[in-house]
Amino acid sequence: MTNIKNRRSGKNKQKKLVTALVADRNGEIFELEGYAAVGMAGQHFEILSTANTIIIPHGGELMYLPDRRPVLYNIENNHLEVLDENPYAPGEPVYPVAAFNSPGYVAGYVSAFEERDGAKKLPLFSYGAVGWLGEGFRTSIIQVDKEDRQDLRLMKREDVIKGVQEMRKKMPDNRLRKHLERCALEYGCPAGKNFFLGRYEAPLPSAQQCNARCLGCISLQKSEEITHCQERISFTPTPEEIARIALEHIVRVEKSVVSFGQGCEGDPLFAAEVIGPAIKLIRSETERGTINMNTNGSLPDILNELLDVGLDSIRVSINSLRPECYTAYFRPKGYLFDDVIRSIDIALDKGKYVSINYLNCPGITDAPEEVEAVMTFLKDHPINRIQWRNLNFDPIGYWQVMMAASPSGQPIGVKKLLGLIRKNFPQVSFGYFNPPKENF
Ligand code: SF4
Repeated sequence: MTNIKNRRSGKNKQKKLVTALVADRNGEIFELEGYAAVGMAGQHFEILSTANTIIIPHGGELMYLPDRRPVLYNIENNHLEVLDENPYAPGEPVYPVAAFNSPGYVAGYVSAFEERDGAKKLPLFSYGAVGWLGEGFRTSIIQVDKEDRQDLRLMKREDVIKGVQEMRKKMPDNRLRKHLERCALEYGCPAGKNFFLGRYEAPLPSAQQCNARCLGCISLQKSEEITHCQERISFTPTPEEIARIALEHIVRVEKSVVSFGQGCEGDPLFAAEVIGPAIKLIRSETERGTINMNTNGSLPDILNELLDVGLDSIRVSINSLRPECYTAYFRPKGYLFDDVIRSIDIALDKGKYVSINYLNCPGITDAPEEVEAVMTFLKDHPINRIQWRNLNFDPIGYWQVMMAASPSGQPIGVKKLLGLIRKNFPQVSFGYFNPPKENF
């Protein structure tokens, strides 16, 4: 066991500590009496207690982290330790445990661990800190959206299949309908399922290309170490195919949203030649429904045209408001961070609803330098909403890349960051999903 610096705060001493969870060589997860769970934000550690955790919401899943050693808090000795071996089976390895939390919650801390030599990068998930107390798991997260849009309990497979069969009859030759069937049934994509269930927001994937190479892109990874989890759409749907799906959804769903820019495509700005005419077709039939685009915002002139044609809202993905950190993660080809900001300004000038998809990784997102950058951004660009998303990427790998791009100081804590933004920018709403225009 290796001792590392104890940062237990006086405040946490009054709270109940959350017992550590670890996994054995078979991946079996168990509690470790005498140890409290620890959360990590960059190089900073926080002991988990009732003060910085909540009971894990439905849908959260536990994972163990291979090639890694857990950092835990030894309660009796009052210090942090890196555990090398399983205390119940000396000589055998022991692994850290993390939680992949449900939509609507943003991580306060990630699971605390150290990499063993030669550790492979973790797959594309977020790794929330988690432990056990009383009768249940507790995890370090903050709720940012209460909507049940992606609550899997409300998406029964038999209902999705019924919807799939109905849509097959209604639009047998529509290739986009067929593509969404695969998303819903094979990949378990909640957006795809919601189309067939007639709920909330329907996806309109259209683009095969992208001009970024995000470290955590879920639809394209060139290295063999990290695998992408969805296949990119392999054709460009026609405007008619897109409009047919969108209209079907808009007609049957109250306060519906239809969105370009999904996990199974490139960036929709690269499909503007079909998206523009598709929006015109939709709007020639109805003014109902919100037409949204999730985008990297890299091509302001093209976005400008789509906004004029009838896009109602945009959500721009950003991991950091510091250009160096943005560039290190998005690895743009042929555009600059300033182009993204210009896209946001164009949409705001036209009175459109603008969200950012702010990818959170404790230790970077809540670093003082990032806090200053986000405050300045919000002052200069009065966006409507921050959609807080947990970055699905190896946290230590991400931290290393970000630190090389621009140093980050001691984090203030994600909860405090949220509080600061609420206080200084009360008009900016927090959430996880794209709102319908009725709620703008
Ligand atoms: S902007 Fe989207 S599609 Fe493009 S590389 Fe990043 S995650 Fe992938």
